Amino acid sequence: MGEETSMNKLREYLEKRGIQPSFHRLKILEYLMTHRTHPTVENIYRALSKDIPTLSKTTIYNTLKLFLSKGIVWGLTIDENEMRYDFNTEPHAHFKCVKCGRVLDVSLELPLLESIEGHKVMETHLYLKGICKDCLKR
Ligand SMILES: [Zn+2]
Ligand SMILES: [Zn+2]
Repeated sequence: MGEETSMNKLREYLEKRGIQPSFHRLKILEYLMTHRTHPTVENIYRALSKDIPTLSKTTIYNTLKLFLSKGIVWGLTIDENEMRYDFNTEPHAHFKCVKCGRVLDVSLELPLLESIEGHKVMETHLYLKGICKDCLKR
């Protein structure tokens, strides 16, 4: 798949969801799709600002807020002070390593509840913390 083709696909993806596909939004979406590391605004800014000097943290923050409202990304509050973003919105649990700080996807069955005790469920999150297998080997 050529770079132009994939950009057209991303453009279509955003348009289908009623989002104006600006250059910055496309670049942020592309980054989220290709980096399943649950990046923060800071992570995305550091990775993209070298090539896109016009990109600001505010633009990234506003874009992610928009993506969140359209259900394109999940916001993870596994860190105390920083929101992480996940392009994979299929139900899955997260494991945070307290040594290296990575947040990993783990396959663990989540209860797929539509409602509980009369409340409507919109999101289910499960956060696990510990030491990842790589850090255990060190
Ligand atoms: Zn680790
Ligand atoms: Zn995830």
